[in-house]
Parts: sequence; C-alpha cells; structure tokens
Amino acid sequence: MVKIDQYLNKFKEKITKRENNITLISPQKETMVFDAVNLDTNNTCNQRCRFCFTSFNEKPINMDINTFKAVLEVLPLVKDYAGGGYGFYFSCIYEPTINPLFLEYLDLLPDIAKNKCFLTTNLAKPMDEGFIKRLLSANIRLVNISIESLKPERFEYITQNKKFNHYINNLNTLEKVINEIDIDIPILRFITILLKENKDEIIDLVKYTCKHFPIESHEIRTPFINYYENMGWNKKQYLSKEEVDEIITQLNKLECIVDTVIMSSEDLEKYENEENNKENEKLDSYQKAINRFKIVEDYEYLFLRINSDGTCIDKKNNVAEKISLENPRKYFKDKLFELYSYRSEAAACSDYGGYENPDSGDGFILVDKISENDAYIEFTGWCCPDRKVNTDKLIIKLTGLDGDVNYYHASTKKRFDADEFKEKEKGWCGGYTTYIDKNKLKNNKYYIDLIYETETSQIISYRWENFILSLN
Ligand code: SF4
Repeated sequence: MVKIDQYLNKFKEKITKRENNITLISPQKETMVFDAVNLDTNNTCNQRCRFCFTSFNEKPINMDINTFKAVLEVLPLVKDYAGGGYGFYFSCIYEPTINPLFLEYLDLLPDIAKNKCFLTTNLAKPMDEGFIKRLLSANIRLVNISIESLKPERFEYITQNKKFNHYINNLNTLEKVINEIDIDIPILRFITILLKENKDEIIDLVKYTCKHFPIESHEIRTPFINYYENMGWNKKQYLSKEEVDEIITQLNKLECIVDTVIMSSEDLEKYENEENNKENEKLDSYQKAINRFKIVEDYEYLFLRINSDGTCIDKKNNVAEKISLENPRKYFKDKLFELYSYRSEAAACSDYGGYENPDSGDGFILVDKISENDAYIEFTGWCCPDRKVNTDKLIIKLTGLDGDVNYYHASTKKRFDADEFKEKEKGWCGGYTTYIDKNKLKNNKYYIDLIYETETSQIISYRWENFILSLN
C-alpha cells in the first residue's frame, strides 16, 4: 500500500530548489551501460542436442586473440552482477571449451570480470583436473552446467553425443576438485531442459546436483521456441499443465533452490494464438508506440551479441556489423549511445495533433524517478486521473517556459503497488514511463502534462502541479 504523504515526502528529498512555491526538479545523472554482452568465441559445439535452437550450418570460426582482447574493452561498460546486470557471457549459444584457445582466453579475463563474467558449458569435452582447476580459478562470476540426464542411453539420445563417459567423468572430476581446491570458486548453477524424454528424472537430477555440488540453484526450463528447423520437435516436448503442476509440486518439496522457467503445452498454444492475432490487428498510433516500447523495454534490449567472427548484433538494428579493432572502447560507447537514443525515438510522438485545447482534469500525478543519461531523460511514475480514462493511452506533454512544446508516448503499466488509489479512484490508475530526447529540448525549464482520452474520446490533460522540470 502506498501512503501519499510518505510517498511525497520521500520524493521531495530528491527536490533541488523551490521558487515561488514551485519546486524545480532536476534529473539524477545515470551512466549508460549494457545490461549484458553475449559473446561466443566459437560457433560450433561437440553435441547436437535435439532441443538446440542453434543452426550449425555456418563455417566454423574460432575468434582470434586480437579480436578477443578488443572485445574485453567492453567490460567496463557492462553492468555487473551485483548491480542487477546479466553480465558478460563468455559463452552464449555454443560450447566454449572446444575452442583451442579456451584456457588462454580464461587467463586474459581481467579482475573486473570477476563480478561480470558468466560461462555455460555442456561439460562434454574430456577434462582433466588441471583443466578444471584453471576454469575454477579464472576471473569468472558464475559457471552454468547443462545436465539433461544421468542415464547413458537417454543422455546420448537427447544430446546426440555418444560419449556419456566423458560427461560423467567430468562431473566426478569437478566434484573432486571442488572438494580439494582452496580458492574462492565461481558460483555454480545447473540447467536442465524439461522434456518428455527426461520428465521422470527431473527430481533425481535436482537431488543429485544439490547433494554433490555447492550450487546457487538448479534451473529447470522448457525448450526455446524460435524459427529454426527443429522447433517441431521442441513443441512436441512441452508437457501438459497437469504434468507441469505435478513436477513443480514435487520440486517445491525438495530442500534445494530450484528456479523454474516452464511453459505448458496449453500456455504455448495460447501464446501462439495471441501472436497470430496480433499480426492481423490494425494499429493506431498508440498501438504502434506500444510495439516500439516492446522492443526498447524488452529486458534484453541493452544486450549486445558478439560473434566469433568479430561482428556484433544489437536489438535495434539486428544486423551483424564488424567491431572496430582500432578503438573498440569508443565503438562500444557509440553503440550504447545509439541504443539509448533509440528509446527516446520509440517514445517520440510526431503525429500528435488536434488536441491543443484539452479539458483540464484534477488527479494525482506521482513520479518515482527522473533520471538523465547522455541520450535521454527518463520520467517514470503513476497517475490517478479524476475520471474514467483509458490509462493504456497516454501522451506526455512538455511545455517549455519559453514556449517549446514536445509530445511523447508513454509505456503504461499496471501499478499493483498503487492499490490504495486504485480502490479509491475505482481503477483509474496507471503507471507510465517515457524517454525524452535531450537534444530536442530547446528550453531549460518545462511544465509536464499527462494527456489521456476518455472512452468517449474526450481529451483530458493533467498537469504536474507546482513542479517544473529543470535542466542544466
Ligand atoms: S550443448 Fe548447447 S550448443 Fe551444444 S548442441 Fe546442446 S544446446 Fe546446442
């Protein structure tokens, strides 16, 4: 429950200045960072798991060492694990240990990687104690290990790798080294893809990893669905809701930390129907903005994918481009700026018109956050309008004290933390976030108005009373 007085007092702590009963609010400065960088130093694997979403049709390429050193320049620009980031994935969709330079690369990871670097391995390549010790001694935060089955025939069927003995030997060696080694080892996590093939073994797999290893968690997840050729096989592996519920009930009884990312076959069908229906929708400008926000607010939006051939792909352009080896730090900084800037492009409302004289409403406008980075000002909060409006359709208007006017769409979200107001205002309460392009603002002080439509297309404007956005 939110208490309005507490809320306002908390927010006023951030206030910078008061002028004639008007409070000037200056955005808090924030640094631009990638939430994650997903690297692969090779594009091959020593298994062919039936659920794998990767295509192995490309020419095999191992990253050369100069490119790898250039890629490491991105590390200071990656949010670290403690800061809520997803980190620097040393390996993402292929198997890193089969790269002949794997151990050399590990040795090159600087201290700063210790709180950022993740690595995933299938543990299928034969590894001796020395190899595993070097892996555990590297500047790595977390090691994910795949475990689909401990039954030899089943393992070999699922992974299409006939060397179960290598896998089980590696697990035993890993356990031995962990028990003997006297250093601070990376966090360990096991991951199992839940399939019809291994559903009866899931509980035993979790019990095994929990008993033999000091794990942070064991993750159980359903196979990915995307557009590669084997998705038919993956779809058939989805369990019914009843089966999923039964497995989750059993997992909850274990004294182990288990993370589940599980979709049932019913969930999958519903998801696919929704996606198909969306394709046929006629979109108005709000819905188009919603689709843009879906991209720039996706949790993977600030991820950068780096391929073994020295190219990278971001979520905005979705095209592979060569990383500059001359000045990689600048290249990555420019890439960050481009991604951040695109958020304000997504929010920009260029075709808003005809509503220059809306009716004035009288509602609460509350602000959680006003921050600024080199590209945009982020404005986030929630609002309780005084009448029934469509809280999913919101335009935020900035009016400069010297007359500069700008309109932005806002992404709108349910705010369950605002239940007290939701009750009071009969449900007309919604959250919002927008991204304002700093370079487009011509004045340094702005009024902020939230503009909603009612169900009868009346336009209502709510001013953030007594507050002015003040820019330096
Ligand atoms: S180990 Fe990973 S990359 Fe290799 S085939 Fe299996 S899922 Fe794909």
